[in-house]
Amino acid sequence: MIIDCHCHAGTGDGLTGPWDTRASLHDYLRRASAAGIHKTVLFAAFHSNYAIANEEVARIVASNPKRFFGFAFVHPARDRGRVHELVKVAVECYGFVGIKVHRHDAPITREICATARIYNLPVLYDVAGEVSVCELLAQEYPDVNFIIPHLGSFADDWRAQLAVIDHLVRHPNIYADTSGIRRFDLLKQAVKRAGANKLLFGSDGPWLHPGVELTKIKALGLPPSQENLISGGNFLNLISVAKNGKSLIATGKLANSAKMITENARF
Ligand SMILES: [Zn+2]
Repeated sequence: MIIDCHCHAGTGDGLTGPWDTRASLHDYLRRASAAGIHKTVLFAAFHSNYAIANEEVARIVASNPKRFFGFAFVHPARDRGRVHELVKVAVECYGFVGIKVHRHDAPITREICATARIYNLPVLYDVAGEVSVCELLAQEYPDVNFIIPHLGSFADDWRAQLAVIDHLVRHPNIYADTSGIRRFDLLKQAVKRAGANKLLFGSDGPWLHPGVELTKIKALGLPPSQENLISGGNFLNLISVAKNGKSLIATGKLANSAKMITENARF
């Protein structure tokens, strides 16, 4: 089962570039099926209101729930105080299985990590080169799994990508996705040092070609068991924790967690 863990969908309400204007799946779906990709994780493009953007993604996921997973996009600063509400709707109404956060919006917050903990959700956080936060995420939220896309830098900052490999090696809850990584030897080094269980195939579609991105995984020449982990197994493991993990809601700690979120929101 090949799963693309990183693809955008829906319309943005900006007009700066493709990333906040439109993420059409028309060509993506044709390319993905030609490449043998079975399922895709969808989240919004940049948007000024993620409640609206997530709802649009939910409609796309619902149009073919066997083909798509959804992640809730949240803005660390603008959604402060309502992250829990956004994620609750995404999980309980849309069936989403993760959270997406981007450093270009704002740095990740305790409010987001605490919410991920409550719902046992992985957080795909684009650090945009600010890798050191991985140390804090690993120390403060060892029970929350974080996926760092592009090995830490879509901008191809090899220093940042090299540093992310260290975090993958050292911290059990830090993972990376392979989307947009251009320096192939860094990808090779990541697998060699951190292990195939720490990387997830992602394409950053529809803007990058999912078949081209998947070819990189195949070019690693790994034994099938390891290749299967990267191309889908690791993702399924991360969301099975989310789906089968002992949710704090079920254990009645929601009220305390909500209080914690409120307290964190003051800082
Ligand atoms: Zn992306």
